[in-house]
Amino acid sequence: MGILYAGNWRWAETPRAVAWVQYTSNFAKYPYACTHSQTWPCERWPTLANGLSVTRHYGIASGVTQMPTGTGGTRDVSGDVRFMFNQFNDVAASNPFFYETTYSAADVKVFSFVDCTAVARAWGRHSDGDHYYDWGEVKLSTCSNLWGSSDATRGTLCHEIDHLMGLNHVWWDDNDGNGIDNVGSKATCIGMGSPSGPRIDDVSALDAVYSGVVP
Ligand SMILES: [Zn+2]
Repeated sequence: MGILYAGNWRWAETPRAVAWVQYTSNFAKYPYACTHSQTWPCERWPTLANGLSVTRHYGIASGVTQMPTGTGGTRDVSGDVRFMFNQFNDVAASNPFFYETTYSAADVKVFSFVDCTAVARAWGRHSDGDHYYDWGEVKLSTCSNLWGSSDATRGTLCHEIDHLMGLNHVWWDDNDGNGIDNVGSKATCIGMGSPSGPRIDDVSALDAVYSGVVP
């Protein structure tokens, strides 16, 4: 599998020391120190005990074929949705593998919604009271003008799928004495959306989340 780093696709063959943490109320301030407790749940898709991926199905709602472009027209971004799920499928980790299905049967529903407070949103949902997602959703705002180009659309989808996979906004400590105060590894779709797919720190983070190996 390839990873996009510094603008180039390359192979990851050596361990990478990462200088960031997942920093939200749902994660401990250390990479992947989730305990399955109410305080530090693991918000992620379940994986099989042998480390193999689960299969998840995503579905695209009809509104996604008519997203506003900002120039008065609409554009079908469903191809960009398919492109980005396939990019995540190329990550050689024990993370979920996605297949497309009908919208109504999907584990992940991608749809458009009148939401003027964000370009896009992602949520994982659980119905069984534990901390593993049963299903998820990606909402694309029909108030945004972002959807006119594949690059902008794919970068946004990469960011939102990262969220679905269990990653949250990345912060890091630059050792200036002020603690964790800088946002964004540049090598993630969370820190800087990539139109080409998950980047080196996304891959490292997915590995950590789904294999339990802290980088
Ligand atoms: Zn986000």
